[in-house]
Amino acid sequence: MEKILSQKVTIINELGIHARPAAMIAKIASNAQKLVWIEYDHAMIDASNIIDILRSQSIEIIIKGITGSPGICIGKAYIVDREGVNIIKKYCILSPSIKQEINRFKNAVKKAKDEHALIIKSLNNDLSSHINILETHMVLFKDKMLYKKTIDTIYNDKVNAEWALKKVVDQAKFMFQKIDDPYLKSRVTDIVQVAEQIMRYLIGAQDVKISDINKRVILVAHDLSPADTSQINLKRIKGFVTDLGGKDSHTGIIAKSLKIPSVLGLEKATTSVKNDDILIVDGTTGVIIINPSENTLFKYEEKRTNYDKYIALLARNNHLPAVTVDGKKITLMANIELVEEAVSVIDNVADGVGLFRTEFLYLDLKRFPTEEELFNKYKELLDLLTPKPVTIRTLDINGDKVVFYLNSKEETNPALGLRGVRFCLKRTEIFITQIKAILRAASFGNIKLLIPMISCVEEINDVKKNIAKAVIELRKENKIFNDNIPLGIMIEVPSAVIMAEEFAQNVDFFSIGTNDLIQYSLAIDRKNRQVAHLYQALNPAIIRMIKKVMDAAKKNGIDVTICGEMAGDPVNIPILMGLGLKELSMNSGSIPIVKKIIRNLDSRETEKIASKILKKNTVSEISNLLQKKYKSLMQA
Ligand code: PEP
Ligand code: MG
Repeated sequence: MEKILSQKVTIINELGIHARPAAMIAKIASNAQKLVWIEYDHAMIDASNIIDILRSQSIEIIIKGITGSPGICIGKAYIVDREGVNIIKKYCILSPSIKQEINRFKNAVKKAKDEHALIIKSLNNDLSSHINILETHMVLFKDKMLYKKTIDTIYNDKVNAEWALKKVVDQAKFMFQKIDDPYLKSRVTDIVQVAEQIMRYLIGAQDVKISDINKRVILVAHDLSPADTSQINLKRIKGFVTDLGGKDSHTGIIAKSLKIPSVLGLEKATTSVKNDDILIVDGTTGVIIINPSENTLFKYEEKRTNYDKYIALLARNNHLPAVTVDGKKITLMANIELVEEAVSVIDNVADGVGLFRTEFLYLDLKRFPTEEELFNKYKELLDLLTPKPVTIRTLDINGDKVVFYLNSKEETNPALGLRGVRFCLKRTEIFITQIKAILRAASFGNIKLLIPMISCVEEINDVKKNIAKAVIELRKENKIFNDNIPLGIMIEVPSAVIMAEEFAQNVDFFSIGTNDLIQYSLAIDRKNRQVAHLYQALNPAIIRMIKKVMDAAKKNGIDVTICGEMAGDPVNIPILMGLGLKELSMNSGSIPIVKKIIRNLDSRETEKIASKILKKNTVSEISNLLQKKYKSLMQA
């Protein structure tokens, strides 16, 4: 793979820096042993043109996208074509016919909505994440932004329904584009997908029936809506690739729940791949290979067999406890964003939820949720998971997760702005509403309350005052609740590390959020690609900070968990264990591999390696030490 990678990098540079003509690129490609890596971001020329040239010379084409779900599949491409839906003509509607045109639109909405309802009805409960998304779409059919605006546009502009709908969708796209948050940005996809369903009825386009595909293929689509993916028959569809979609898109969420390999965000998959092309989809690294050479096919067949064997082996042993060879139990918890993920918590045999990022419930709405709505969601989660413990983190919006209905003032440095608990302590009515919902849910299960972004003792005191206010309100309202639950804080800013001893005297547990701790300690914007190479969990400063937090917690007899991405990366497990962590929280898909690592570790050895690592001054020294000691364990 390294060999291929170095050739790809050369080609990317050629494309990006020199913007050579297509024929020249093809020549470079031939020189590079018929391997081309096309990164459309970097290409300044029409890449589809290059692909045609490469194809005519039978050159293997590699395109890089975003990992949707891991795994490898090899098969024939099947293009999901939506002919006609994108070609919309504009024409005028004379005043006497406006009402009729509006009715035609309403009719199309009704038909699309009825069809959508039928799809939801036909799904079984195993696809609960699908159902949830489809239900969100159901609401969108009559959403003001789409439904009313289209009717208004037909009326005001005196245009045909197709054109009016297209105009409204384009406006929505433009509006969302200005929002930085990738999650929110991807919500525009929901609007586009619902509009597409309506459009099909308006223009009478042929619907693509994914459920009717009767051969073993890999789907290649511009985008796959939740309604499309719900029709995927796992016996027939080996995997899928799409032009659109990012890590936080619904397609991404579903790709993981379907557990078939997928690569998203390829931008030009539908124009680069042709029906029946042989395709390799490597969901683990996020690449696809069109018309692979025999040699590549052979390599990937082998890779696929090894991967499948490895996953089967991990799954077979995943019921075993995460206990080291010397008998130390490590608690493995899951990080979740949605209640629907409870299924994967159970499937991956997590000990509970170590981090429930509640802001996603707020991002999905167009207003702040009510106490009742929040209570119902939290209770739903507990009903599914009790007696497993669930740590609910209070709202951590702003920074990179902006709630657009908030109309917050623009901040020069949002990451250093009114984020997390700072926002909650300013808008206490929103904070108290959430605390009340959490305390009410706490009488139905095993809940811990976690506060993000704490940077000083005053904030802890203020949080407690607000909890006390929530309790008073609940008592007045005669509601059943439980306020006898552990209160914890995230350790994710440097001041929290420095003040860890004082903080430990004021709370019941710490949860180390390394994602932000790295960002704030090393002064690296989590989203900035330019400095991404410096964003390293094994930076000695981070390791020493974790040690300091562990010592402070131990001295004061409180528990510590770690819930940043660092905890889900197998490479980091020996050092985290060596530093004394007994609880790790991660995305639930990482649990089987982390469990396997733990079952092969000896805690006495990890302690020794940790004390050596604490004396090292560079990332490379630390990585080398870990590599030397645990290389064989980390290999699949
Ligand atoms: C963290 O900062 O490590 C963390 C888990 O929180 P988030 O990723 O939600 O900021
Ligand atoms: Mg954080």
